[in-house]
Amino acid sequence: MSALAGDKLSPLNLRDVQVGGEIGRRIAITITNNLLVLDADRDFLPPFRTKAAKDGYIGLGKLLDATVKFAVQTGDPRVLALRRHLVDETLKAQEPDGYLGILAPAQRVQGLWDVHEMGYLIWALLADYQCFGDERSLAAARKAADYLIRRWPELPKDWCVGTDVAPHVAVTGIERTMLALHRQTREASYLDFVVSTRALPEWDLPIVVGRRKGIEGHVYAFMARCLAQLELHRTQPSRRLASQTDRALDFMLRQDGLLITGGTGQCEIWTDDQDGRGDLGETCATAYQLRVYDSLLRLRGDARLGDLIERTVFNALFAAQSPDGRRLRYFAPTEGPRAYWTTDTYCCPCNYRRIVAELPQMVFYRAGDGLAVSLFTASQAKLAVGPDVALTVRQETDYPNTGSVRLRLDPARPVKFPLQLRIPAWAKGASVKVNGQRLKDPVMPGSFLQVAREWKTGDEVTLDLPMPWRLVKGRQRQAGRVAVMRGPQVFSLNPAQNAGLAKLDGTDLGYLALDPQSLGAPARSDAVRPGGVACRVSAWKPGFGLGDKTDYELTLTEFPDPEGKATYFRLRDFSVAVDDELLENPKP
Ligand SMILES: [Zn+2]
Repeated sequence: MSALAGDKLSPLNLRDVQVGGEIGRRIAITITNNLLVLDADRDFLPPFRTKAAKDGYIGLGKLLDATVKFAVQTGDPRVLALRRHLVDETLKAQEPDGYLGILAPAQRVQGLWDVHEMGYLIWALLADYQCFGDERSLAAARKAADYLIRRWPELPKDWCVGTDVAPHVAVTGIERTMLALHRQTREASYLDFVVSTRALPEWDLPIVVGRRKGIEGHVYAFMARCLAQLELHRTQPSRRLASQTDRALDFMLRQDGLLITGGTGQCEIWTDDQDGRGDLGETCATAYQLRVYDSLLRLRGDARLGDLIERTVFNALFAAQSPDGRRLRYFAPTEGPRAYWTTDTYCCPCNYRRIVAELPQMVFYRAGDGLAVSLFTASQAKLAVGPDVALTVRQETDYPNTGSVRLRLDPARPVKFPLQLRIPAWAKGASVKVNGQRLKDPVMPGSFLQVAREWKTGDEVTLDLPMPWRLVKGRQRQAGRVAVMRGPQVFSLNPAQNAGLAKLDGTDLGYLALDPQSLGAPARSDAVRPGGVACRVSAWKPGFGLGDKTDYELTLTEFPDPEGKATYFRLRDFSVAVDDELLENPKP
């Protein structure tokens, strides 16, 4: 991808970034223990061969998109073989008229989710062409897009009326697909479909809280349209095209819409009550929040969007996957039991794989003629800096275990360029050294620190981000309680790992009162990931007495702990609680 006019940051090529650490481990287990063990011939492909369904959704396009991206970044022969198989079978399934879906002729296009399925298949075939140069994939994508545009006028005016979804929800993803196809082919009909037929620039919906008929407040659909508007904004700049995104951010960051984990929404719909139970934080919504943050970060260069990305990735996103990688979730509540989704198909499992495949492009960005580092994880990248000088950058860190990060820069020859480092808003007292010399410039949390100088091979930048425990104030239904955080991570209570708590349900667990004085160095814990961390804290049992002697020595594990059942707790002295640094106007 090339830098777009107006963007402050641009992504690196997927092929040029290798990621380790916890993000890399999640990529690896998603490939090895999920993608490569699912049975596409049994669960995904048959309905596309028979094309006899009346309705339904599979997610083949999303599966193909994730496979293409994993294949290009790993070069793993097994993933390459799966990509080849999925492309071949998808091409075989396309009708001569361009139709690519699972529905019988009478239901095509009008049947619920058919446009959604086709849109993602077109997107994935285009991605395949862009990554592997297979001309058949581009031709099939165009043929399917032309089919949709040709048949669109046949849709009745009251399309979707009488169903449970609004039209913009039924076609989630189609606008971004058509814009991408337009950018690739310069064919005007694809842009015209988005601008005139779909009226993307005029879209102006309020944030609807709570599930109503038509599910207008569907977070995933809302964020997908925001993402498409931001793409259009890049070629047809207009304040209006960013206004829906700003409305969503305002709702999340100023009106209690964002959960402590970075997730949002109850039953897939915007919510602001901070209820931690139930169908909380749809994985599709989490994935699309991340894409919107990434898109805005590139557009605006605001480091706080990187803060949102890391909060969401390490908590809401990774909580959507079992520790071994095999099982995926639709929802990740902060209180009470969390369920796994029962199949490999459908929206959430497929969007989980896709966003994990995209994470390498959120680590480093090209920033003008320099480099920006946004996510901290062991990693390596190649890019051109300055006047086209090849640079290799290596990042060594055990983040998020500690906030100690070392970057080694190896340009092909000495070259001047600005290096930008995201300093998270929580990292008060952060310091930066270049070749062992501490920078005198102030290091401001919540911004990118810029170090502009001539860099030569072997130069080393070290970043020290202090990670004290934070007791973050709950809001709305969590008011009067705190969540335990350290760096980007939220910690939760797994009763099975704590003697004497197994019989307490989620509500009772939330009545436990933590003793901040007892918080010490983080403990090592393999409960959620190898070499992970845990929080040891003393607590008082629910009840009147909060005397000098505590009742429990608790171990709180990283939020993705599949048995985590409580995230908010009481305190004896609330004055130690702090606001969530991601929020823009926390209430007193
Ligand atoms: Zn979903």
